[in-house]
Amino acid sequence: MNLSYWEIKSWLTNVDYTIVGSGIVGLNCALALKNKFPKANILILEKGFLPQGASTKNAGFACFGSLSEILDDLKTHTKSDLLQLIIQRKEGLKQLRDSLGDTKIGYKALGGYELFSVKDNTLFEECLSKKEQINQLLKPIFKTNVFSLKPNSFKFKNIKENYIFNQFEGQIDTGKMMEALLKKAQENGIKILNNIIVEAFSEDLNTVKIKTNQFEFKTSKLLIATNGFALQLINENVKPARAQVLISKPIKNLHIKGTFHLNKGYYYFRNIDNRILLGGGRHLDFKTEETTKMFQTDLIQNKLEALLKTTILPNFPFEIEHRWSGIMGVGNQKKPIVKQLSNNVFCGIRLGGMGVAIGSTIGIQLAKLLD
Ligand SMILES: Cc1cc2nc3c(=O)[nH]c(=O)nc-3n(C[C@H](O)[C@H](O)[C@H](O)COP(=O)(O)OP(=O)(O)OC[C@H]3O[C@@H](n4cnc5c(N)ncnc54)[C@H](O)[C@@H]3O)c2cc1C
Repeated sequence: MNLSYWEIKSWLTNVDYTIVGSGIVGLNCALALKNKFPKANILILEKGFLPQGASTKNAGFACFGSLSEILDDLKTHTKSDLLQLIIQRKEGLKQLRDSLGDTKIGYKALGGYELFSVKDNTLFEECLSKKEQINQLLKPIFKTNVFSLKPNSFKFKNIKENYIFNQFEGQIDTGKMMEALLKKAQENGIKILNNIIVEAFSEDLNTVKIKTNQFEFKTSKLLIATNGFALQLINENVKPARAQVLISKPIKNLHIKGTFHLNKGYYYFRNIDNRILLGGGRHLDFKTEETTKMFQTDLIQNKLEALLKTTILPNFPFEIEHRWSGIMGVGNQKKPIVKQLSNNVFCGIRLGGMGVAIGSTIGIQLAKLLD
Protein backbone atom coordinates (compact mmCIF):
# COMPACT_ATOMS: atom_id res chain seq x y z
CA MET A 1 0.00 0.00 0.00
CA ASN A 2 1.31 3.46 -0.89
CA LEU A 3 0.76 6.08 1.76
CA SER A 4 -0.71 9.39 0.60
CA TYR A 5 1.16 12.69 0.61
CA TRP A 6 -1.12 13.79 3.49
CA GLU A 7 -0.51 10.70 5.57
CA ILE A 8 3.22 11.09 5.20
CA LYS A 9 3.15 14.84 5.88
CA SER A 10 0.82 14.76 8.92
CA TRP A 11 1.91 11.59 10.69
CA LEU A 12 5.35 10.54 9.56
CA THR A 13 7.35 13.71 8.89
CA ASN A 14 9.37 15.73 11.42
CA VAL A 15 8.74 13.22 14.17
CA ASP A 16 10.76 14.26 17.21
CA TYR A 17 10.09 11.31 19.50
CA THR A 18 8.86 7.87 18.52
CA ILE A 19 7.84 5.54 21.31
CA VAL A 20 7.37 1.83 20.69
CA GLY A 21 4.61 0.41 22.88
CA SER A 22 1.44 2.05 24.25
CA GLY A 23 1.50 0.33 27.64
CA ILE A 24 1.60 2.21 30.89
CA VAL A 25 5.31 3.06 30.38
CA GLY A 26 5.03 4.24 26.77
CA LEU A 27 2.01 6.43 27.50
CA ASN A 28 3.51 7.98 30.63
CA CYS A 29 6.75 8.60 28.79
CA ALA A 30 4.88 10.34 25.96
CA LEU A 31 2.97 12.53 28.44
CA ALA A 32 6.15 13.46 30.29
CA LEU A 33 7.88 14.35 27.01
CA LYS A 34 4.91 16.49 25.97
CA ASN A 35 5.05 18.26 29.31
CA LYS A 36 8.75 18.95 28.88
CA PHE A 37 8.64 19.79 25.16
CA PRO A 38 5.11 21.10 24.45
CA LYS A 39 5.81 21.71 20.76
CA ALA A 40 7.35 18.29 20.12
CA ASN A 41 5.84 15.92 17.61
CA ILE A 42 5.36 12.64 19.50
CA LEU A 43 4.31 9.38 17.90
CA ILE A 44 3.52 6.08 19.61
CA LEU A 45 3.56 2.88 17.56
CA GLU A 46 1.63 -0.05 18.98
CA LYS A 47 1.44 -3.53 17.52
CA GLY A 48 -2.00 -4.34 18.95
CA PHE A 49 -5.43 -2.89 18.19
CA LEU A 50 -5.27 -2.12 21.93
CA PRO A 51 -2.10 -2.16 24.03
CA GLN A 52 -1.20 -5.81 23.73
CA GLY A 53 1.29 -6.73 26.44
CA ALA A 54 0.56 -6.48 30.15
CA SER A 55 -0.99 -3.07 30.80
CA THR A 56 -4.53 -4.03 29.71
CA LYS A 57 -4.21 -7.63 30.91
CA ASN A 58 -3.08 -7.32 34.53
CA ALA A 59 -4.84 -8.04 37.81
CA GLY A 60 -4.92 -4.41 38.97
CA PHE A 61 -3.20 -4.89 42.32
CA ALA A 62 -1.93 -1.54 43.60
CA CYS A 63 0.73 -3.22 45.71
CA PHE A 64 4.40 -3.03 46.61
CA GLY A 65 5.16 -6.62 47.70
CA SER A 66 3.70 -9.10 50.18
CA LEU A 67 5.72 -9.99 53.29
CA SER A 68 7.00 -13.28 51.84
CA GLU A 69 7.93 -11.55 48.55
CA ILE A 70 9.88 -8.92 50.46
CA LEU A 71 11.68 -11.63 52.46
CA ASP A 72 12.40 -13.51 49.25
CA ASP A 73 13.74 -10.37 47.56
CA LEU A 74 16.10 -9.81 50.49
CA LYS A 75 17.84 -13.01 49.43
CA THR A 76 18.73 -11.56 46.01
CA HIS A 77 18.82 -7.79 46.66
CA THR A 78 20.65 -5.70 49.23
CA LYS A 79 18.53 -4.04 51.92
CA SER A 80 19.13 -0.65 50.40
CA ASP A 81 18.25 -1.81 46.84
CA LEU A 82 15.06 -3.38 48.15
CA LEU A 83 14.08 -0.24 50.05
CA GLN A 84 14.68 1.77 46.90
CA LEU A 85 12.36 -0.58 44.98
CA ILE A 86 9.65 -0.26 47.62
CA ILE A 87 9.95 3.54 47.66
CA GLN A 88 9.74 3.51 43.86
CA ARG A 89 6.55 1.39 44.01
CA LYS A 90 4.93 3.56 46.69
CA GLU A 91 5.76 6.77 44.84
CA GLY A 92 4.71 5.24 41.54
CA LEU A 93 1.28 4.43 42.92
CA LYS A 94 0.94 7.97 44.24
CA GLN A 95 1.97 9.30 40.83
CA LEU A 96 -0.63 7.11 39.09
CA ARG A 97 -3.42 8.14 41.49
CA ASP A 98 -2.48 11.84 41.41
CA SER A 99 -2.16 12.09 37.64
CA LEU A 100 -5.38 10.28 36.68
CA GLY A 101 -7.51 10.52 39.85
CA ASP A 102 -8.91 7.70 42.00
CA THR A 103 -12.35 7.76 40.36
CA LYS A 104 -10.97 7.45 36.85
CA ILE A 105 -8.83 4.45 37.75
CA GLY A 106 -11.42 2.81 40.04
CA TYR A 107 -9.01 2.86 42.98
CA LYS A 108 -10.24 1.12 46.14
CA ALA A 109 -8.24 0.98 49.38
CA LEU A 110 -9.49 -2.45 50.44
CA GLY A 111 -6.17 -3.70 51.78
CA GLY A 112 -4.14 -6.74 50.79
CA TYR A 113 -3.83 -10.17 52.37
CA GLU A 114 -1.22 -12.87 52.23
CA LEU A 115 -2.59 -16.37 52.75
CA PHE A 116 -0.57 -19.44 53.67
CA SER A 117 -1.49 -23.00 52.81
CA VAL A 118 -2.08 -25.24 55.87
CA LYS A 119 0.87 -27.32 54.72
CA ASP A 120 3.25 -24.38 54.46
CA ASN A 121 4.48 -24.22 58.07
CA THR A 122 8.01 -23.16 57.20
CA LEU A 123 7.03 -20.13 55.14
CA PHE A 124 4.32 -19.08 57.60
CA GLU A 125 6.67 -19.36 60.60
CA GLU A 126 9.38 -17.44 58.77
CA CYS A 127 6.94 -14.64 57.92
CA LEU A 128 5.61 -14.49 61.47
CA SER A 129 9.05 -14.39 63.00
CA LYS A 130 10.29 -11.65 60.64
CA LYS A 131 7.12 -9.54 60.50
CA GLU A 132 8.27 -7.03 63.11
CA GLN A 133 11.72 -6.77 61.60
CA ILE A 134 10.22 -5.88 58.20
CA ASN A 135 7.74 -3.48 59.81
CA GLN A 136 10.69 -1.68 61.39
CA LEU A 137 12.58 -1.69 58.08
CA LEU A 138 9.61 -0.11 56.30
CA LYS A 139 8.70 2.36 59.06
CA PRO A 140 10.75 5.25 57.64
CA ILE A 141 8.72 4.87 54.41
CA PHE A 142 5.20 4.24 55.76
CA LYS A 143 5.52 5.82 59.24
CA THR A 144 3.55 3.01 60.84
CA ASN A 145 3.37 -0.80 60.79
CA VAL A 146 2.61 -2.17 57.32
CA PHE A 147 1.93 -5.82 58.18
CA SER A 148 -0.41 -7.17 60.86
CA LEU A 149 -2.21 -10.45 61.57
CA LYS A 150 -5.91 -10.96 60.77
CA PRO A 151 -8.14 -13.99 61.28
CA ASN A 152 -9.54 -15.89 58.30
CA SER A 153 -12.81 -13.94 58.17
CA PHE A 154 -13.39 -14.68 54.47
CA LYS A 155 -13.55 -18.39 55.34
CA PHE A 156 -11.00 -19.62 52.82
CA LYS A 157 -10.30 -23.33 53.11
CA ASN A 158 -7.01 -25.20 53.50
CA ILE A 159 -5.19 -22.12 54.64
CA LYS A 160 -3.79 -21.05 58.01
CA GLU A 161 -6.15 -19.51 60.58
CA ASN A 162 -4.49 -16.11 60.20
CA TYR A 163 -3.51 -14.02 57.21
CA ILE A 164 -0.95 -11.28 57.05
CA PHE A 165 -2.73 -8.04 56.28
CA ASN A 166 -1.24 -5.03 54.49
CA GLN A 167 -3.27 -1.93 55.16
CA PHE A 168 -1.57 0.06 52.38
CA GLU A 169 -2.51 -2.22 49.50
CA GLY A 170 -5.32 -1.26 47.12
CA GLN A 171 -6.81 -2.23 43.78
CA ILE A 172 -7.63 -0.48 40.54
CA ASP A 173 -9.85 -1.14 37.55
CA THR A 174 -7.16 -1.84 34.97
CA GLY A 175 -9.41 -1.12 31.98
CA LYS A 176 -10.51 2.23 33.38
CA MET A 177 -6.91 3.18 34.14
CA MET A 178 -5.69 2.44 30.62
CA GLU A 179 -8.72 4.12 29.04
CA ALA A 180 -8.00 7.27 31.06
CA LEU A 181 -4.32 7.17 30.16
CA LEU A 182 -4.99 6.71 26.44
CA LYS A 183 -7.53 9.54 26.51
CA LYS A 184 -5.09 11.84 28.29
CA ALA A 185 -2.38 11.08 25.74
CA GLN A 186 -4.71 11.86 22.86
CA GLU A 187 -5.99 15.05 24.51
CA ASN A 188 -2.36 16.15 24.78
CA GLY A 189 -1.84 15.81 21.05
CA ILE A 190 0.14 12.59 21.20
CA LYS A 191 -0.42 10.51 18.07
CA ILE A 192 -0.96 6.79 18.51
CA LEU A 193 -0.91 4.41 15.56
CA ASN A 194 -2.21 0.91 16.29
CA ASN A 195 -1.56 -2.35 14.45
CA ILE A 196 1.95 -1.22 13.63
CA ILE A 197 4.80 -3.59 14.44
CA VAL A 198 8.23 -2.03 14.68
CA GLU A 199 10.46 -4.63 13.03
CA ALA A 200 13.87 -2.97 13.04
CA PHE A 201 15.70 0.31 13.33
CA SER A 202 19.04 1.77 12.27
CA GLU A 203 20.74 4.93 13.37
CA ASP A 204 22.57 7.84 11.69
CA LEU A 205 24.18 10.69 13.55
CA ASN A 206 20.97 12.64 14.17
CA THR A 207 18.16 10.36 13.15
CA VAL A 208 16.82 6.87 13.59
CA LYS A 209 15.31 5.07 10.63
CA ILE A 210 12.41 2.86 11.65
CA LYS A 211 11.08 -0.07 9.68
CA THR A 212 7.57 -1.24 10.50
CA ASN A 213 5.32 -3.88 8.98
CA GLN A 214 3.50 -1.04 7.13
CA PHE A 215 5.97 1.74 6.33
CA GLU A 216 9.41 3.19 6.99
CA PHE A 217 10.14 6.68 8.34
CA LYS A 218 12.67 8.73 10.29
CA THR A 219 12.53 10.07 13.83
CA SER A 220 14.95 12.18 15.87
CA LYS A 221 14.77 9.94 18.95
CA LEU A 222 13.48 6.43 19.52
CA LEU A 223 12.22 5.22 22.91
CA ILE A 224 11.54 1.53 23.41
CA ALA A 225 8.84 0.67 25.95
CA THR A 226 8.06 -2.87 24.90
CA ASN A 227 8.83 -4.62 28.20
CA GLY A 228 8.43 -8.41 27.74
CA PHE A 229 8.88 -8.07 23.96
CA ALA A 230 12.08 -6.02 24.20
CA LEU A 231 14.38 -8.80 22.97
CA GLN A 232 12.73 -8.60 19.57
CA LEU A 233 14.36 -5.18 19.08
CA ILE A 234 17.25 -4.83 21.52
CA ASN A 235 19.66 -7.03 23.40
CA GLU A 236 19.03 -6.42 27.11
CA ASN A 237 18.73 -8.65 30.16
CA VAL A 238 14.97 -9.17 30.05
CA LYS A 239 12.88 -12.24 29.33
CA PRO A 240 9.21 -12.63 28.53
CA ALA A 241 7.08 -14.18 31.27
CA ARG A 242 3.51 -15.08 30.46
CA ALA A 243 0.92 -14.72 33.20
CA GLN A 244 -2.45 -16.49 32.91
CA VAL A 245 -5.69 -15.31 34.43
CA LEU A 246 -9.34 -16.34 34.74
CA ILE A 247 -12.43 -14.54 35.95
CA SER A 248 -15.66 -15.96 37.37
CA LYS A 249 -19.18 -14.98 36.42
CA PRO A 250 -20.82 -12.61 38.94
CA ILE A 251 -21.38 -14.37 42.28
CA LYS A 252 -24.39 -13.46 44.42
CA ASN A 253 -23.51 -12.00 47.83
CA LEU A 254 -19.78 -12.31 47.21
CA HIS A 255 -18.22 -11.57 50.60
CA ILE A 256 -14.55 -11.50 49.51
CA LYS A 257 -13.11 -8.00 49.17
CA GLY A 258 -9.47 -7.09 48.73
CA THR A 259 -6.35 -8.28 46.98
CA PHE A 260 -4.91 -11.66 47.98
CA HIS A 261 -1.51 -13.29 47.56
CA LEU A 262 -0.85 -17.00 47.96
CA ASN A 263 2.31 -19.09 47.64
CA LYS A 264 4.80 -16.20 47.66
CA GLY A 265 2.66 -14.28 45.18
CA TYR A 266 2.71 -17.04 42.55
CA TYR A 267 -1.09 -17.02 42.89
CA TYR A 268 -3.09 -13.83 43.27
CA PHE A 269 -6.80 -13.06 43.35
CA ARG A 270 -9.16 -10.17 44.01
CA ASN A 271 -12.79 -9.16 43.86
CA ILE A 272 -14.04 -7.08 40.94
CA ASP A 273 -17.67 -6.39 39.98
CA ASN A 274 -18.91 -9.24 42.25
CA ARG A 275 -16.53 -11.65 40.55
CA ILE A 276 -13.26 -13.27 41.50
CA LEU A 277 -10.29 -12.67 39.23
CA LEU A 278 -7.52 -15.21 39.80
CA GLY A 279 -4.11 -15.45 38.18
CA GLY A 280 -0.70 -17.04 38.48
CA GLY A 281 0.72 -20.53 38.39
CA ARG A 282 3.74 -19.61 36.26
CA HIS A 283 5.96 -21.57 38.67
CA LEU A 284 4.21 -24.80 37.59
CA ASP A 285 5.95 -24.60 34.20
CA PHE A 286 8.44 -21.71 34.03
CA LYS A 287 9.95 -22.89 30.74
CA THR A 288 6.68 -22.97 28.77
CA GLU A 289 5.64 -19.64 30.28
CA GLU A 290 8.82 -17.94 29.06
CA THR A 291 7.06 -16.86 25.87
CA THR A 292 5.45 -13.91 24.14
CA LYS A 293 2.59 -16.07 22.84
CA MET A 294 -0.68 -15.10 24.45
CA PHE A 295 -2.25 -18.49 25.00
CA GLN A 296 -3.54 -20.40 28.00
CA THR A 297 -2.46 -23.91 29.01
CA ASP A 298 -4.57 -26.67 30.57
CA LEU A 299 -1.95 -27.27 33.24
CA ILE A 300 -2.20 -23.77 34.68
CA GLN A 301 -5.87 -23.11 33.98
CA ASN A 302 -6.90 -26.39 35.64
CA LYS A 303 -4.81 -25.57 38.68
CA LEU A 304 -6.35 -22.09 38.94
CA GLU A 305 -9.82 -23.57 38.69
CA ALA A 306 -9.00 -26.18 41.34
CA LEU A 307 -7.77 -23.45 43.66
CA LEU A 308 -11.09 -21.64 43.31
CA LYS A 309 -12.98 -24.83 44.21
CA THR A 310 -10.83 -26.03 47.09
CA THR A 311 -9.58 -22.82 48.68
CA ILE A 312 -11.12 -19.55 47.56
CA LEU A 313 -14.79 -20.34 46.96
CA PRO A 314 -15.26 -23.76 48.62
CA ASN A 315 -18.87 -23.09 49.61
CA PHE A 316 -19.99 -21.10 46.58
CA PRO A 317 -21.19 -22.42 43.26
CA PHE A 318 -19.32 -20.50 40.54
CA GLU A 319 -18.72 -20.56 36.82
CA ILE A 320 -15.72 -19.33 34.90
CA GLU A 321 -16.67 -16.64 32.41
CA HIS A 322 -13.39 -15.88 30.72
CA ARG A 323 -9.67 -16.68 30.56
CA TRP A 324 -6.72 -14.73 29.16
CA SER A 325 -3.00 -14.14 29.43
CA GLY A 326 -0.55 -11.25 29.25
CA ILE A 327 3.21 -10.91 28.88
CA MET A 328 5.49 -9.45 31.52
CA GLY A 329 9.19 -8.63 31.25
CA VAL A 330 11.36 -10.15 33.98
CA GLY A 331 15.04 -10.62 34.80
CA ASN A 332 17.32 -11.83 37.56
CA GLN A 333 16.92 -8.45 39.27
CA LYS A 334 13.64 -6.70 39.92
CA LYS A 335 15.12 -3.32 39.09
CA PRO A 336 13.74 -2.02 35.78
CA ILE A 337 16.13 -1.08 32.97
CA VAL A 338 15.87 2.60 32.10
CA LYS A 339 18.79 3.71 29.99
CA GLN A 340 20.25 5.28 26.91
CA LEU A 341 21.29 2.60 24.43
CA SER A 342 23.02 4.80 21.85
CA ASN A 343 23.02 8.43 20.70
CA ASN A 344 19.35 8.50 19.83
CA VAL A 345 17.84 5.32 21.25
CA PHE A 346 16.56 4.77 24.79
CA CYS A 347 14.63 2.10 26.67
CA GLY A 348 12.40 1.67 29.74
CA ILE A 349 11.72 -2.04 30.25
CA ARG A 350 11.67 -5.02 32.69
CA LEU A 351 8.76 -3.97 34.88
CA GLY A 352 8.20 -7.45 36.32
CA GLY A 353 4.91 -8.01 38.12
CA MET A 354 4.77 -4.49 39.52
CA GLY A 355 4.08 -2.31 36.51
CA VAL A 356 0.85 -0.89 37.90
CA ALA A 357 2.93 0.47 40.77
CA ILE A 358 6.03 1.59 38.91
CA GLY A 359 4.87 2.04 35.30
CA SER A 360 4.09 5.75 35.64
CA THR A 361 7.42 6.68 37.21
CA ILE A 362 9.41 4.47 34.84
CA GLY A 363 7.72 6.27 31.92
CA ILE A 364 8.64 9.62 33.47
CA GLN A 365 12.23 8.47 34.17
CA LEU A 366 12.56 7.34 30.57
CA ALA A 367 11.48 10.78 29.37
CA LYS A 368 14.00 12.39 31.76
CA LEU A 369 16.85 10.75 29.84
CA LEU A 370 16.09 13.20 27.01
CA ASP A 371 17.26 16.77 27.32
C1 LIG B 1 -1.70 -11.26 33.97
C2 LIG B 1 -0.88 -10.16 34.56
C3 LIG B 1 -1.18 -9.70 35.83
C4 LIG B 1 -0.46 -8.63 36.38
N1 LIG B 1 -0.87 -8.12 37.56
C5 LIG B 1 -0.26 -7.00 38.05
C6 LIG B 1 -0.74 -6.38 39.21
O1 LIG B 1 -1.74 -6.82 39.79
N2 LIG B 1 -0.09 -5.29 39.69
C7 LIG B 1 1.03 -4.80 39.07
O2 LIG B 1 1.61 -3.83 39.56
N3 LIG B 1 1.47 -5.34 37.92
C8 LIG B 1 0.85 -6.41 37.39
N4 LIG B 1 1.28 -6.97 36.23
C9 LIG B 1 2.45 -6.36 35.56
C10 LIG B 1 2.10 -5.08 34.81
O3 LIG B 1 0.91 -5.24 34.11
C11 LIG B 1 3.25 -4.72 33.87
O4 LIG B 1 4.44 -4.61 34.63
C12 LIG B 1 3.03 -3.39 33.14
O5 LIG B 1 1.78 -3.36 32.52
C13 LIG B 1 4.13 -3.22 32.11
O6 LIG B 1 3.86 -2.07 31.36
P1 LIG B 1 4.73 -1.74 30.09
O7 LIG B 1 4.19 -0.49 29.51
O8 LIG B 1 6.16 -1.77 30.44
O9 LIG B 1 4.55 -2.98 29.13
P2 LIG B 1 3.25 -3.49 28.23
O10 LIG B 1 2.03 -3.10 28.89
O11 LIG B 1 3.53 -4.86 27.95
O12 LIG B 1 3.44 -2.55 26.97
C14 LIG B 1 4.34 -2.85 25.93
C15 LIG B 1 3.61 -2.60 24.63
O13 LIG B 1 4.53 -2.71 23.56
C16 LIG B 1 3.83 -3.27 22.46
N5 LIG B 1 4.86 -3.81 21.56
C17 LIG B 1 5.71 -4.81 21.82
N6 LIG B 1 6.55 -5.01 20.80
C18 LIG B 1 6.20 -4.12 19.83
C19 LIG B 1 6.69 -3.83 18.53
N7 LIG B 1 7.75 -4.49 18.00
N8 LIG B 1 6.09 -2.85 17.82
C20 LIG B 1 5.04 -2.17 18.35
N9 LIG B 1 4.55 -2.39 19.57
C21 LIG B 1 5.13 -3.35 20.32
C22 LIG B 1 2.95 -4.31 23.10
O14 LIG B 1 1.86 -4.65 22.26
C23 LIG B 1 2.51 -3.62 24.38
O15 LIG B 1 1.28 -2.96 24.26
C24 LIG B 1 0.61 -8.05 35.65
C25 LIG B 1 0.93 -8.53 34.39
C26 LIG B 1 0.18 -9.57 33.83
C27 LIG B 1 0.53 -10.05 32.45
